[in-house]
Amino acid sequence: MLNIVLFGPPGAGKGTQAEKLISKYNLVHLSTGDIFRVNIKGETELGKLAKSYMDGGNLVPDEVTIKMLETEVDKNPQAEGFIFDGFPRTTTQAEALEAFLKGKGTTISVMLALDVAEKELIKRLLLRGQDSGRADDANEEVITNRISVYNKQTAVVADFYSQQNKFQKVNGIGSVEEIFDRLCVAIDGYKVSM
Ligand code: AMP
Repeated sequence: MLNIVLFGPPGAGKGTQAEKLISKYNLVHLSTGDIFRVNIKGETELGKLAKSYMDGGNLVPDEVTIKMLETEVDKNPQAEGFIFDGFPRTTTQAEALEAFLKGKGTTISVMLALDVAEKELIKRLLLRGQDSGRADDANEEVITNRISVYNKQTAVVADFYSQQNKFQKVNGIGSVEEIFDRLCVAIDGYKVSM
């Protein structure tokens, strides 16, 4: 299986690139943010719980997020691999994912981290907020908090994969196609070394 963690701060382009990568490599895209948003729209219990955290730009508690992610993986028993987008966001989540995949006889192949400067992220998120319909993109204070949460709680997850020699940084500045090509080079390089 090819299991990729697509990593990077909010606004780095993970969602856009994940959509392109799944069709090229025949993977299943699991975005925890997207799954939460579907639940909010459907007014499920999970959606109600997640909403207050998301509206403030804070993380939904690990226990809830991990359980949800595992359920989604289990819904795709035929998958040739997954792209995890927006997960794991804490070391606890990374450890849980590792144990969960191990139980299925697989593991994370590589973490690809999109590298984008903070000033550019804020610009992109405010622009996205004009038509994404996402409350957390429309407010600069919430955007700043999301980036700060990323720096404080999420950035360390890179160390977890780095220690396993699975971390690879990819320049996230340029056109969608340029960035996609860089990600493909990284994935193809990984596949050759497998
Ligand atoms: P995203 O679509 O990845 O930008 O996520 C939007 C929001 O969903 C985040 O700001 C969090 O509130 C919540 N969220 C998404 N993924 C996670 C996660 N792995 N852990 C905790 N909260 C998450």
